Amino acid sequence: MTTMPAAFLGHGSPMNALQQNRYTRAWRAFGTSIPRPRAILAISAHWYIEASAVTAMARPRTIHDFFGFPDDLFTVDYPVAGDPGLAQEVADLLSPTPVDLDADSWGIDHGTWSVLVHAFPDADVPVVQLSVDATKSFEQHLELGAKLAPLRERGVLVVGSGNVVHNLRHIDWEAADTGFEWAHRFDDSVRAAMVGSPADVLGIQGHPDFRAAVPTPDHLLPLLYLAGLASAAGQPTGVLVDGCTMGSLSMTSYTLG
Ligand code: ZN
Repeated sequence: MTTMPAAFLGHGSPMNALQQNRYTRAWRAFGTSIPRPRAILAISAHWYIEASAVTAMARPRTIHDFFGFPDDLFTVDYPVAGDPGLAQEVADLLSPTPVDLDADSWGIDHGTWSVLVHAFPDADVPVVQLSVDATKSFEQHLELGAKLAPLRERGVLVVGSGNVVHNLRHIDWEAADTGFEWAHRFDDSVRAAMVGSPADVLGIQGHPDFRAAVPTPDHLLPLLYLAGLASAAGQPTGVLVDGCTMGSLSMTSYTLG
């Protein structure tokens, strides 16, 4: 079996699930360009809890974990199968870190489905989500990502979903498809690491714009899983699509392999 690629997709507003734009087209192009995965392991910014857990149910529900958006968004269904076997494989790979096999608390959240409705619109590849453990350091998240590397040899597509720059307090609804200077500076520094030596992305914690770009770490942390996979493979990542939107969101996405 060939080594499966991996990706970090910048998901932005949940409205991207319903729209067609250069970001959603890039996600679609990614989904069609790779070998058909056996299953997808998704690491979404929106399952940010104080534990490591994987969805282990056979039929995960579609979760609408947001407020104040149009009704159309609340009727989106991503009726995908789970993969309890993969959930156990992930728990085994991350050992000795304890990983809860979640039977009923979570499902497929909008960080995952807003990109997968474009990348895999037929919802015919089983999906397991791995939580982002809020108690762990950046270094530990990168190490967890590296430990997932064997999945790539087993036909599993690992996809992180978040945003490199994500500051909702500074959103400028008039800014359209542009970003503030500090957002671009931070995005550019992350890109320099990801296309050079991805483990160096850990140094971003000392960046002068870190507090503005990363007021909370939830949306950046899924990127560290891809950096860990890249580091394990001894390869840099490539840029799938880049840009900032609404001033304080980066939509930049990365692929490996
Ligand atoms: Zn989000």
